Amino acid sequence: MTKAELEKFKTFLEGRQAELGGALRNREDIAIEKTPDALDEVQLAGERELAIRNLDRESNLLRQVRGALARIAEGSYGTCMHCDEEISLKRLNAVPQTAFCIKCQEAADRHEFEVEETPLDSLLQNAA
Ligand SMILES: [Zn+2]
Repeated sequence: MTKAELEKFKTFLEGRQAELGGALRNREDIAIEKTPDALDEVQLAGERELAIRNLDRESNLLRQVRGALARIAEGSYGTCMHCDEEISLKRLNAVPQTAFCIKCQEAADRHEFEVEETPLDSLLQNAA
């Protein structure tokens, strides 16, 4: 990977990080909203559930983006964290935050090895 390509990914990922960080803060605001109306309570509970699911997905993505930025900083970006093979540029262009080559990603999706996960507890505590 050239320096220019690396810079391009870095700029993109930093943008994603800012975007996702902002989105997560907004979700927390939605999640703690209160209403005295019973019907609204039901609706709000549904929205809260949806918000938590989105929060889950977005915080996962944010974690991957942060991981990718950390790997850029330490110089291991573009190398699969599982098998140490180079991740193809085509794949990085499609999924810049990825930590795995396509083969390992498929294996991870089939739960053939553990992908490190940070607990969501702190985020959900704020949302509950
Ligand atoms: Zn791999």
